[in-house]
Amino acid sequence: MSKVLIIGAGGVGSVVTHKCAQRRDIFSEITLASRTKSKCDAIAAQLGNSINTARVDADNVPELVSLLRQVQPKLVINVALPYQDLTIMDACLETGVNYLDTANYEPIDTAKFEYSWQWAYQERFKDAGLMALLGSGFDPGVTNVYTALAAKKHLDEVQEIDIIDANAGSHGQPFATNFNPEINIREVTAICRHWENGQWVESGALATKHSFDFPEGIGPMNIYRMYHEEMESLVKHIPSIKKAQFWMTFSDNYLKHLEVLQNVGMTRIDEVEFQGQKIVPIQFLKALLPDPGSLGPLTKGKTCIGVIARGLKDGKRRQVYIYNICDHQECYREVSSQAISYTTGVPAVVGAIMMLTNKWHGAGVFNMEQFDPEPFLDELGPMGLPTVVVDGGDWPEL
Ligand code: NDP
Repeated sequence: MSKVLIIGAGGVGSVVTHKCAQRRDIFSEITLASRTKSKCDAIAAQLGNSINTARVDADNVPELVSLLRQVQPKLVINVALPYQDLTIMDACLETGVNYLDTANYEPIDTAKFEYSWQWAYQERFKDAGLMALLGSGFDPGVTNVYTALAAKKHLDEVQEIDIIDANAGSHGQPFATNFNPEINIREVTAICRHWENGQWVESGALATKHSFDFPEGIGPMNIYRMYHEEMESLVKHIPSIKKAQFWMTFSDNYLKHLEVLQNVGMTRIDEVEFQGQKIVPIQFLKALLPDPGSLGPLTKGKTCIGVIARGLKDGKRRQVYIYNICDHQECYREVSSQAISYTTGVPAVVGAIMMLTNKWHGAGVFNMEQFDPEPFLDELGPMGLPTVVVDGGDWPEL
């Protein structure tokens, strides 16, 4: 029985709050805090006002510290934006509180995805006897756990991984992103990097494409290679991995809009002068695009996110495909959110359960693959995201 503080009342924060409220055996007292308190209050109202709410600017460490002192949680679940990771980690250190997030820190003025800033907190968390669990969403998050499962149970040596994220859902809007548009567009337009033979290899953003035949009736879709942060920790913690690639589906329509927006400068993350005022084009674009939260009732179809791990078993080459299928409309019926927020929020809650029940424990800063994958997956299925394992198969090399 533990007090938890959730920071961030967006799409993911809403799912996290609903799911924590379903598990009162673990989360005895829940506080939801965010920059706009009315968003916390709206989520609290959906839950019969059975949780506490607060306003906090998570860019401001003294504000965070005073909230943490007042709430005294055992754990902070950070589902605000990646820009706030370090300030929230600082406040946790100052007040002796454990920490969990779903996305690695990014400086607001450079789209640079790497764990270096957060790994630099290792000694401070260790010395304070506190635990920080990084990237407990779906990807990163469950994809790290799937890779750890392949290494633990299915292959003697994991040599290659392809992480494949398909959203086969449709929201009927001309252009919208499924999670925070600013974070999504920064990630998608970044230069692609994949891991090959001990080094990062760069290629153009979304320049490499294949068709992949997805299971369970989804069928063939175009997948595009891009950089994704879990590859950095996976190749560090599972050094037998010689090649790691990340793939995501995009519709032709999404890519057409993105290309035009890029060409006209609307995805720029630097300040421009506009009518005597400084604005950041991508932040202006975010204000114009549909709020991902509003897509919940409109989105139909499924997601399929998983990992194909290739390597050696008993001296022979073998492949295993581990994935989850999630249905947008079922998520909406359960927690009033679409599957992208659901597939991120549920693993955040399961990571929190692992920490609060001591199934995963340690002092320092950790990534998901450093722990036993099985207790996590045992909890993830009943919480709404069952795992499918197909051990043995001949998926084409990508
Ligand atoms: P949203 O934009 O929907 O929500 C973000 C929330 O954080 C908003 O409520 C926002 O407040 C709040 N916030 C932003 N800045 C501050 C601040 N300075 N202080 C306090 N609150 C703040 O984003 P999502 O819910 O879609 O995403 C949440 C996180 O989940 C992101 O970090 C994203 O990268 C991550 N993610 C991870 C995935 C994974 O699989 N690992 C997949 C998808 C997302 P306000 O309403 O006032 O703007």
